[in-house]
Amino acid sequence: MKILKIDHIGVAVKSIENGKNFWSDVLGLAFEGDETVAAQKVKTAFFPVGESEVELLETTAPDGPVARFIDKKGEGIQHIAFRVENIETALAELKKKGVRLIDETPRIGAGGAKIAFLHPSATSGVLVELCQR
Ligand code: ZN
Repeated sequence: MKILKIDHIGVAVKSIENGKNFWSDVLGLAFEGDETVAAQKVKTAFFPVGESEVELLETTAPDGPVARFIDKKGEGIQHIAFRVENIETALAELKKKGVRLIDETPRIGAGGAKIAFLHPSATSGVLVELCQR
């Protein structure tokens, strides 16, 4: 399995509209619009930073994963995403190594990327996303 780079860092926010004030207006990162991923009950907005991006995540439903995260921990960093060369190969390798996976097969995330999450119990508490674009 080959990790190419940190693709993005996911930040849970109550409101992308408010979050934009800091990430875009204050820091000057480009806001390139938002996108709703209905299957994950989330609205996302990506802010490019050099080779990586910051992803703001706002829930679209009270029972969505981002809503549950904010209920438990408040706003803040929710996941870190590594870009991999081949996500199927990476998942197969991790499974073989006994890593607990949330997604055994990739699903389609924002921007049409193939994504899969590893379980935080296998990663020192960090929700790790693999993505292939
Ligand atoms: Zn993400």
